[in-house]
Amino acid sequence: MAATLPERDWETASAEEIVAAFLETFPGQVSLACSFQKEEAVLLDMLLTLEPKARVFALDTHLLFPETYAVWREVEQRYKTKIEVYEGPSLGRQIATHGDALWASNPTLCCAIRKVEPLGRALADLDGWITGLRRDQSPTRANAPKVGWDEQHELWKANPLADWDDARCWEYLRARELPYNELHDKGYASIGCIHCTNPGEGREGRWAGLDKTECGLHVDEPAEVTA
Ligand code: SF4
Repeated sequence: MAATLPERDWETASAEEIVAAFLETFPGQVSLACSFQKEEAVLLDMLLTLEPKARVFALDTHLLFPETYAVWREVEQRYKTKIEVYEGPSLGRQIATHGDALWASNPTLCCAIRKVEPLGRALADLDGWITGLRRDQSPTRANAPKVGWDEQHELWKANPLADWDDARCWEYLRARELPYNELHDKGYASIGCIHCTNPGEGREGRWAGLDKTECGLHVDEPAEVTA
């Protein structure tokens, strides 16, 4: 049974207060999901300033941009930390079965293999996770609470930046001269895998031309992953 957060109106809490509460309530059992975008640059700083040994994990799809891998290394050096890595355990077999360009033929299955299944393992031993999700990123995220129980994964979920916007993220980053993904300077407001990310505002550059808007990490997006 997971520890329980103190009762309060989390909507009135600051991002720093939420991160601090998760660290205090779930010592060693909370982790930041890091996709190396500007939101995670903010949260990495908040989290690791409060607790230098705090846990951070990344989902390595093996299809990330070189700029993303570069800032990954930079973050580890700056904060003297090692980010936990999760990836599809049967990636090689899945690619052999479905073809390497699964992102083109079946992007939902591709995300299920490369992201959703590894996320399940990343969260399995945690009591809480922290994400960089923001309400203004897309209609599917508009009602995201700052703190809530994640029914799907059965742990507490914090979205400390839910009510932040781009300008506030950049203000925080620049004031502290934090490392960030250089793709943001090249017109990418949102950053995912190479084959599925174009420059663009908001999340318009993600899966451009497809109905798909989410990879399934933050919403239920059914996809069968064969063993
Ligand atoms: S974002 Fe694209 S390449 Fe990455 S896991 Fe999803 S479908 Fe595959």
